[in-house]
Amino acid sequence: MKRIYNFSAGPAVLPEDVLREAADEMLDYQGCGMSVMEMSHRSKEFESIIGEAEQDLRDLLSIPDNYKVLFLQGGAHLQFAMLPLNLMKNGVADYIITGHWAKRAFTEAKKYLKANAVASSEDKTFSYIPDCSDLPISEDADYVYICENNTIYGTKFHTLPNTKGKTLVADVSSCFLSEPMDVSKYGVIYSGAQKNIGPAGVVVVIIREDLIPDEVAPTVPTMLQFKTHADNKSLFNTPPAYGIYICGKVFKWLKKQGGLEAMQKRNEQKAAILYNYLDSSRLFHGTVEKASRSLMNVPFVTGDADLDAKFIKEATAAGFANLKGHRSVGGMRASIYNAMPVEGVQALVDFMKKFEAENS
Ligand SMILES: *Cc1c(COP(=O)(O)O)cnc(C)c1O
Repeated sequence: MKRIYNFSAGPAVLPEDVLREAADEMLDYQGCGMSVMEMSHRSKEFESIIGEAEQDLRDLLSIPDNYKVLFLQGGAHLQFAMLPLNLMKNGVADYIITGHWAKRAFTEAKKYLKANAVASSEDKTFSYIPDCSDLPISEDADYVYICENNTIYGTKFHTLPNTKGKTLVADVSSCFLSEPMDVSKYGVIYSGAQKNIGPAGVVVVIIREDLIPDEVAPTVPTMLQFKTHADNKSLFNTPPAYGIYICGKVFKWLKKQGGLEAMQKRNEQKAAILYNYLDSSRLFHGTVEKASRSLMNVPFVTGDADLDAKFIKEATAAGFANLKGHRSVGGMRASIYNAMPVEGVQALVDFMKKFEAENS
């Protein structure tokens, strides 16, 4: 068996310890004689799997008691619709457009309410986070929406926007649990699991209870009401059981690593190895304004598309997988999520140095 360094933006690398444990338990989960994939979601065993997953997540993020944790399906994309459908009161919401996913969310929201783009960084290919200290927030905005870490462009909000008292909603799919966050500053936080916390098929939603409406428009499907899932502890229908089980293992792994403070330190160390090299290299350079850099997704280019292609080809052959940038920006992107070890980033930089020496 050979594991390689996987820099995929998602689905992405998972902790090896978690995969090994899951392998050990594949045929017989803790003496019950079946796999978690085969068991009833109403069983005692699964009840403790989902219960512990929620509690461990609450511990990691110190989630206040007046927030619900939901394990849903439909990916981040379904949240693009569920959020406006559930949160609208006045039918107005403000969106900060910092990349592809924020734009997708904005476009979807426009189907249901009056969505305003109150800031954008599209003028410079989303290479920075706009100043959000004094935006023209709508008087009647039901919420202000951000994509906190922009997976494709490699930017991150290091300061949350001033929402002028309006509810903040954040897509944190690609930075969830990479560092501590103050949940109380948000109305809703959501994350597709396949970036930093588990396999595809689960989306975690953390929502302040008073934002869960008792009633929504009568045409909203039952499955798209937050209340349906909040009232039933994410067990209204069959949940993505195996995915939740793996997420739960990742939460336990994070606790064992020392929690989110420890992860932040490690992630800062990893990102610094890569950014410091990019800043000193004469061949490669980063594409993002320094103050907006993400700790998780690091895009870079040589400035020559043919050389980029040569690099990706040689890196792949050397065991550094999925370094091709998103088709909308080209170049390269290294996603260095929680489960990417420091050694993986160091090995990549060593390889880049060698490539630079051979190609300049
Ligand atoms: C990947 C990604 C999405 C899309 O996720 P799906 O699960 O495919 O819907 C949305 N937002 C961000 C920040 C992402 O990284």
